[in-house]
Amino acid sequence: MLPLAARIGSVVSAGNSIAFGSVTAWRLHSYHLPVSLLLSCALCCAFVMLKATDRALFLWSASTYRCTVPGCAFTVRTQRVSAGERRRWQETAADHPAHDTAR
Ligand SMILES: [Zn+2]
Repeated sequence: MLPLAARIGSVVSAGNSIAFGSVTAWRLHSYHLPVSLLLSCALCCAFVMLKATDRALFLWSASTYRCTVPGCAFTVRTQRVSAGERRRWQETAADHPAHDTAR
């Protein structure tokens, strides 16, 4: 079962996407488009908003571990992991085999 914050995030994400799709359909309705085109535009906008909101919530709630070598861009992002797994990812970020310092 998901934690309360994750469940609230899912509800917010779904509500946000439904609202955006509905507003899009409402605004396009005045142009007398065919129903199939109106529906496809509304669903597309709703899906894009769902993915954008999910991504924003992930970036907000995820933990990020970066390599400590200067110039290396290796990054690990985790979400809802146990303490042991979190420690393992921290160690992986600190000691990974190939540092990308060419940039
Ligand atoms: Zn590195």
